Amino acid sequence: MPIGELAPPLRLMMTPGPSSIDPRVYRALAAPVVGHLDPFFKTCMSETQELMRQVFQTANRITMPMSATGSGGIETAIVNTLEAGDEAIVCVNGYFSERMYEIATRTQAKITKVEAPLGRAVDPEDVRRAAAGKKIKIIGVAHGETSTGVVTHLDGLRKVADELGALLVVDAVASLAAVPMNVDKERLDVVFSGSQKALSAPPGMSPITVSPRAEEVLTHRKTKVQSWYFDITTAMAYWGQGRLYHHTPPISLIYALREAMRLTVEEGLEARWERHRANQQALIAGCEAMHIKMFVENPKDRLVTVTPVMIPAGIDDVKFRDQLLEEFNIEIAGGIGPLKGKIWRLGLMGYCAQKANVLLLLSAMEKVALDQGVRIPAGAGVASAIRSYSQSGVALAAK
Ligand SMILES: *Cc1c(COP(=O)(O)O)cnc(C)c1O
Repeated sequence: MPIGELAPPLRLMMTPGPSSIDPRVYRALAAPVVGHLDPFFKTCMSETQELMRQVFQTANRITMPMSATGSGGIETAIVNTLEAGDEAIVCVNGYFSERMYEIATRTQAKITKVEAPLGRAVDPEDVRRAAAGKKIKIIGVAHGETSTGVVTHLDGLRKVADELGALLVVDAVASLAAVPMNVDKERLDVVFSGSQKALSAPPGMSPITVSPRAEEVLTHRKTKVQSWYFDITTAMAYWGQGRLYHHTPPISLIYALREAMRLTVEEGLEARWERHRANQQALIAGCEAMHIKMFVENPKDRLVTVTPVMIPAGIDDVKFRDQLLEEFNIEIAGGIGPLKGKIWRLGLMGYCAQKANVLLLLSAMEKVALDQGVRIPAGAGVASAIRSYSQSGVALAAK
């Protein structure tokens, strides 16, 4: 039998990424590939960077997409800011902030880990204590910790970083374009994201921005960046004025990212943040009416893009998720690490964060739970979500 034409199923990606993709982004992905120095592509690069500055809300000169996934963004931020002899603090409250710590420990710098219990954000007071007597160069943090659905409010850490004269390095992979963030106003030094989360583009690009203060630090390094590929100053030879060949960028992915960011700007950042908030409110109301408990107890700590819920007693985690996929084409995520088998992570990212998807997910969850013998008050989830929507009173259709 010859191998057949590629025909992926059309899934609803209610996961912590990759998220479902707007048809307009798919069209951009299928546009003709030109050369990386073609005048058309040079204009496309400038537009992509301009849109990126609008989404990050920054005037930073160094603003570009790295040809890498979100993890490549972490790698870029860390290996450029740290060198031998430096000291740094990484705030760890889950799987992805642990990854930043792991990447940092592979540099020649001395890293201090400051932890928070799962389901909580790191307390800036603990960072202040851990920094005592040290010359801290950077503080690293995950703005949205995807493994636990926790948002970290950055103002407290910014204050500590100011006291220490440290740079604040922010993983905004799961939060950019969904959680309010203003890079310049909040004085965030290095911020990176991932194309496949709330921006709703395909995976593979990591937008990054670097403040003038952090740029100073990069230009005054004593040693070369250990990674040639992720060296920001040489990558900027292509993305900056020179447009000099560095590596062949993934042209099609840049088209897609440009279109996804254009749609973000067209919708408006405030409207997009509010859409994420209102949809998560409805999802939470629906789950609670179905007696499904939230993993993150304090509403202030909840990340709008990922809602972790406790798996109800009597339900088989894998069987439940398999049935959602097979019967409804909906993918949700399980827990990772210590939360495996304990929680589901319900994603509402970018294009996926829509009223119709929330209502479908709630009714599908009710159906699958019933099939597994767990009784849920009939229609209670959907009814509560509808009430929540009528209270929030904003236009929630996907743009
Ligand atoms: C998804 C994610 C990453 C990793 O991104 P990849 O694209 O999988 O490499 C890093 N940090 C956070 C907060 C994430 O949600």
